Amino acid sequence: MRELIIDITYQCNSNCNYCQWSTFNFLIDRIIPIKQLLVPENNLSGLKFSRIVITGGEPTLSENLSPVLKYYKNLNFPIRLISNGIELDSKRVNKLLDESVREFIISIDSISYDIYSINRAISYSIFLNLMKNLEYLSECINKEDLFIGLNVVLTNSNCKWENVSNILRISMERSISQVKFQPVFDDGYLSQRAPLLLLTNKNLKQLKIIRRKIEDLHLPSDFTNPIGFWSDLIKLFSGIKLNPLKCNVSENAVLLHKGVLKFCFWCQHTNYGKINKNLTKSMVQTIRRKFDEDLSKCEVLPQCFCLQPIDHEWNLRKS
Ligand code: SF4
Ligand code: SF4
Repeated sequence: MRELIIDITYQCNSNCNYCQWSTFNFLIDRIIPIKQLLVPENNLSGLKFSRIVITGGEPTLSENLSPVLKYYKNLNFPIRLISNGIELDSKRVNKLLDESVREFIISIDSISYDIYSINRAISYSIFLNLMKNLEYLSECINKEDLFIGLNVVLTNSNCKWENVSNILRISMERSISQVKFQPVFDDGYLSQRAPLLLLTNKNLKQLKIIRRKIEDLHLPSDFTNPIGFWSDLIKLFSGIKLNPLKCNVSENAVLLHKGVLKFCFWCQHTNYGKINKNLTKSMVQTIRRKFDEDLSKCEVLPQCFCLQPIDHEWNLRKS
């Protein structure tokens, strides 16, 4: 499945210590004009997307959200929304359901405020509302046949079995469809603001405990990351190089960032160009081939994990 991942705004209402879109960062341009968000129909079919993913920043803050949803709904794409969940009270969820959003991914790093607030500095009352919003969403799952996923950013504060197991337990109790873990990465903001959140070789002991405990649970393969994900993290933080040729981004996703269609934020040498450039099938194939040929120049870093599908493994185990 190839997704079109659209950054619809860089406005946000959260203060995540690892993210440049945090409200604490006054140095960024947050608004994205609507003409940079609507990919022409011929390019959509040329790139062969099967899902639209709306993200940000925090997409529920964008004044362009409704027109963007309407545009892609009229082209019959399934739509997934990635949100921090703060604005997703029952009224807002019902509006989004009316606007054809059927898949919600909530970014939440812990169900304990003490841990959550080390990563994401919001007040306790906002956190309680967020938990209430999550409960409402989970109540809607069966009624509305929704897909609800959780995105958990692993940092030095929450990369512990107790935290991981609590998230998995509550997700199973509430019929959450999927829990995706990914390591925190440093986009330059984190090392200035909260370097202690970085994962390092000091987290290896906990990562090995998490891998062993998850292996014992025999969880369904579409519910959470495979054991190989935890093995890859252990290798990465042990200093072992992962294989960039296993990167799945050219198959899996295209990012729409300020009007330019890209493979990845970090690998800037090839992109598809501006959204209004007419992309023929053969141009798409040539651009993809060039990108794949250059993959060996990449180094797999923590940020490379977030764009891969949930079942991705960099170093596949030998069967
Ligand atoms: S991680 Fe998400 S919620 Fe947190 S500041 Fe960044 S965009 Fe906002
Ligand atoms: S930087 Fe990482 S995610 Fe991006 S293309 Fe290279 S290996 Fe893939």
